Amino acid sequence: METKFKNRVLKTLEPIPKLKSIMASEDSVEQKRIKIRDLLNSLLIKTFDDNPTLPSLKWVLSRDAILVFRNIISRRSEKLSQFSFLSYLNNLIHSNKNPTPQPTPDFFAELDHLIRGISGQADVYPETAPAFSKYKGIKAARLRSADLSRMARDMDKFTKRYSFGLDDEAKRRRYENKLRILRHFNATDFEWSDWKWQVRHIIRNAEILSRLIKLTYQERQAVQYAQEYKIPFGITPYYLSLMDYEPGQGRDDAIRAQVIPSLHYINKLKDFKAQDLSSMDFMLERDTSPLEGITRRYPQIVILKPVLTCPQICMYCQRNWEIEDVYSRSAVLSKAKLEKALDWIAKTPEINEVLITGGDPLLLSNDRIENLMFKLSRMNHVKRIRIGTRTPVTLPQRITDALVKDLNHFHIPGKREVLIVTHYEHPYEITHQSMEAVQKFRRYGIDVYNQLVYTFYNSRKFEAAVLRHKLRLIGVTPYYTFNTKGKEETDDYRVPIPRLLQEQKEEARLMPGTVRTDEIVFNVPRLGKNYLRAVQHHDVISILPDGCRVYEFHPWEKKLALVDTYVYKDVSIHSYLQRLKNTGENIADYKTIWYYF
Ligand code: SF4
Repeated sequence: METKFKNRVLKTLEPIPKLKSIMASEDSVEQKRIKIRDLLNSLLIKTFDDNPTLPSLKWVLSRDAILVFRNIISRRSEKLSQFSFLSYLNNLIHSNKNPTPQPTPDFFAELDHLIRGISGQADVYPETAPAFSKYKGIKAARLRSADLSRMARDMDKFTKRYSFGLDDEAKRRRYENKLRILRHFNATDFEWSDWKWQVRHIIRNAEILSRLIKLTYQERQAVQYAQEYKIPFGITPYYLSLMDYEPGQGRDDAIRAQVIPSLHYINKLKDFKAQDLSSMDFMLERDTSPLEGITRRYPQIVILKPVLTCPQICMYCQRNWEIEDVYSRSAVLSKAKLEKALDWIAKTPEINEVLITGGDPLLLSNDRIENLMFKLSRMNHVKRIRIGTRTPVTLPQRITDALVKDLNHFHIPGKREVLIVTHYEHPYEITHQSMEAVQKFRRYGIDVYNQLVYTFYNSRKFEAAVLRHKLRLIGVTPYYTFNTKGKEETDDYRVPIPRLLQEQKEEARLMPGTVRTDEIVFNVPRLGKNYLRAVQHHDVISILPDGCRVYEFHPWEKKLALVDTYVYKDVSIHSYLQRLKNTGENIADYKTIWYYF
């Protein structure tokens, strides 16, 4: 009896007839492994030596696909990923039984693209090379210039689709939203500008929220469940004013998704809460925290967490396992514990940079912040104090002149640097008030950097590129773009790694270097940042039946210490593209994604 998958697999292998015949043969899996390896080696030689007329970039693409295929059929990869891609493929062709698990359309999409890549049939490049390459001198320059203008105009078609918070229409909408919220709380403009009024009026339940904006059925349900199951949820009145009254307008999806949970998120968190919250500790902070309030992953930098709460909770927060509630007074590290943590830093002279984060440390009072800064500034080995805060985005009222002056006091050029790292996710989050908060820091010589978390909601074509461009305009330097952590509760937010690579190469790369200053990173649990753009620091080691790739990441200290590599299951490219399609995207615009590894 033939399984229904046999013909499908063999058809997919057709572009490489020799591979098809090896797989169709009655050889054992081990014999096939050897024969396929020989075939791939000969293909590498053939595409390079015997066919030097193949355009260089086509050869590179073909070579990359061959190397990936060779890697995923190796025994080492099988051991690491605990899955044999080759045996699975073999079973699909030869076994009489239906395979468990069954291959998904996502699996076939991966296989199909990989085979097309190997055989030089990837539909990536136009048939002909650009005209300018046939000429020299001024004619070449003019043709090239025309091509570049065309590229810029194409870019424009995408970039115009994303709403920017400083556009007149957006300002008008936000003004109306603010009036509606003020009316609800019977408050004044003066109160709105006071950060303490804002935190006292954080919206924490579905009832008030649905009086202020319209919620979809799912959003309302999820917020109700969050309340019921005591899952941290809250939105500052200011941040709520960034949301459009009606859902589904296509402008504020990233803003809503940032703080309004999905049902999947709620269900997962409910389960985790019933078990042990440490399963949510993706970064394994428990293994990198020598004492409470301190985390250390690098030789010279230490993380200090004086407070474990925020004015509102980002749904993909890596520290959600530590945060018990929104703006909770009990989340401040006790005086004694903070003293102990500071004492540890004082006695660790190798540390020259302290990242004060949490939670959001700018929820502390000015006095406490000043006191903390004072103590750190007394340690001669601390040359840089970085403050991680999202308040310029969620609560810009917090950035008062008094606070900035206090911080500036410790920023002494040539001796010690104080800088801010914030977290904008979308150009629609930028407002005049938020820009003013950034500018206050800048006026006092304090630089502001941005860490973007790349999620489904800001991953459309050129969406992140627009954000970087606007950030530079308001005085923020893009610093990192993070892959969303592989936490189960954040599945709705995750984006396949190839999309980050594609975004860097095909979108960010078209912008000036002064704008694309950030680095795309995958945070390896326990060990720290892996720079994704360096292909030599990660490998694809398998493709699973659900179409997800398995990656092996190399730690940052790979040539310095014999630490372990990290194996990670990504999300499926095919499913991601289908989701994009459901939001109205033309997935042909993303077609090269399959050839980023
Ligand atoms: S601002 Fe940072 S710490 Fe606070 S919820 Fe968001 S990601 Fe977590």
